[in-house]
Amino acid sequence: MTMEADFVIVGAGSAGCAMAYRLAEAGASVLVIEHGGSDAGPFIQMPAALSYPMNMRRYDWGYRSEPEPNLNNRRLAVPRGKVIGGSSSINGMVYVRGHARDYDHWRDQGADGWGYADVLPYFRRMEHSHGGQAGWRGTDGPLHVTRGPRKNPLFHAFVEAGRQAGYGVTEDYNGERQEGFGPMEQTVFRGRRWSAANAYLKPALKRANCTLIRAFARRVVIENGRAVGVEVTRGGTREVIRARREVVLAASSINSPKLLMLSGIGPAAHLRDHGIDVVADRRGVGANLQDHLELYIQMGASQPVSLFKYWNLWGKALVGAQWLFTGTGLGASNQFESAGFIRSRAGIDYPDIQFHFLPIAVRYDGKVAAEGHGFQAHVGPMRSASRGAVTLRSGDPAADPVIRFNYMSDPQDWWEFRQCIRLTREIFGQEAFKPFVKHEIQPGAAVQSDAELDDFIREHAESAYHPCGTCRMGRADDADAVVDPQARVIGVEGLRVADSSIFPRITNGNLNAPSIMVGEKVSDHLLGRDPLPSDNHLPWIHPDWQATQR
Ligand SMILES: Cc1cc2nc3c(=O)[nH]c(=O)nc-3n(C[C@H](O)[C@H](O)[C@H](O)COP(=O)(O)OP(=O)(O)OC[C@H]3O[C@@H](n4cnc5c(N)ncnc54)[C@H](O)[C@@H]3O)c2cc1C
Repeated sequence: MTMEADFVIVGAGSAGCAMAYRLAEAGASVLVIEHGGSDAGPFIQMPAALSYPMNMRRYDWGYRSEPEPNLNNRRLAVPRGKVIGGSSSINGMVYVRGHARDYDHWRDQGADGWGYADVLPYFRRMEHSHGGQAGWRGTDGPLHVTRGPRKNPLFHAFVEAGRQAGYGVTEDYNGERQEGFGPMEQTVFRGRRWSAANAYLKPALKRANCTLIRAFARRVVIENGRAVGVEVTRGGTREVIRARREVVLAASSINSPKLLMLSGIGPAAHLRDHGIDVVADRRGVGANLQDHLELYIQMGASQPVSLFKYWNLWGKALVGAQWLFTGTGLGASNQFESAGFIRSRAGIDYPDIQFHFLPIAVRYDGKVAAEGHGFQAHVGPMRSASRGAVTLRSGDPAADPVIRFNYMSDPQDWWEFRQCIRLTREIFGQEAFKPFVKHEIQPGAAVQSDAELDDFIREHAESAYHPCGTCRMGRADDADAVVDPQARVIGVEGLRVADSSIFPRITNGNLNAPSIMVGEKVSDHLLGRDPLPSDNHLPWIHPDWQATQR
């Protein structure tokens, strides 16, 4: 018997789960195809275990970039969730909507109806904010957003140091004012990772009209210019899952363009090279790949204040046991509890540098904890002009795609990154850190000149795991756009893409929130509903941004 539904969604990730929930809630029948399996167990559900799932083949697609020429030909890890909840089940749980101006830029680039005034109501609809700014934040949506307990004195030192350096303090960077230093928000609720699976998918699956199918999507089946279903392999056999109304790809910024190309939608010459019949020649598919790079600026601590004392088998077991039995303690937070958003120079109207502060010196992926007590800021530029691409390695759906970021290929990137390092050093040099700083572990006090900093960047810059933009949204007559402002694939009927791949440009912060927002908004387009009424809350912009950096 052929499986079919009104809507067939490929990918139970951040955007896919939100769509499953909204479409099912509206009474439509929904089938969600997901290659990954269950998210049960502490590796995913315990927030402090965040460095584990991103390194586990069971939960991660295991992609790597091609050698990056400007980063000493390093091949960087490109983790992508392969589990219900997608990347929201393996991410760092940091919650950032992005800056209002990011969305105005989307609109100005041709994503009509996606300006800040248009997307703000969707952010509100999706959120259940605990502690955010009244009026700006949602309070009854499925996605719980909380703040950590901020018990460690280092969290307060970081915000105070920002203030001492002359920056502003913001109580809610997801509210009116992003710029400044303040508490960081997390998608953690009652001590558990509040992934898109926990927030949206599991409630949706309680309805009879929403079904999850564990299968690997190979391509979209297109008949006479219309998407009618998805070819999958399930339990070793190939079958087609049919859509009565539409097929929606929500397979991430890496796999959505790959699936489009395998289905004959993409740059014609590239498709022919791989023996694929061309359905729609769209040169934008896979192009416009963007990401955030970051560095960890690590300081040795002069007091035993950091989380280093738990960074051993016994300490981790204790934290794990407390979490397991009570759902509380250090295990219940991602430990990113203070944040900063600043501008790299005067003349830039809104922040282009983000800080994540962590009260331990360790890599994001949990590898290589620096010796002894320490702490670090993750810092990186937000709006690099470097662009890469996702292309096919082969016409075989099982083959990994070619992922080439071209990091640091814009000359401005180097100035911005040096500026990031120098401005972070200035923060750690403030009075508030005097009681805690012993020395700079990395880059290290000897690394000062532009050339020395550039060497350090080449060897140590890491992805913040925010690839996006590979099925860019724009006007239907824009030859580089892949989807129109209702997320419809240009050139084919009955097919949409809705996930982080449709972002015209990367947003100012981490990408889970905007990916879920895309799922929320595209649901209304799929249902043929009028978008939520726009809202003209105006964001805070530094009154003197043209003349001052802070
Ligand atoms: C390690 C890591 C840390 C991060 N940290 C943060 C953070 O702290 N805060 C934040 O906001 N963002 C963070 N991000 C980014 C954020 O999580 C992602 O940008 C966001 O989840 C992307 O959502 P999406 O809907 O585009 O795709 P995804 O959530 O990746 O969903 C895609 C889904 O499609 C499925 N799929 C793909 N191909 C197929 C196929 N062929 N057949 C069947 N199923 C398929 C995948 O298995 C997956 O479940 C992080 C990401 C990673 C990887």
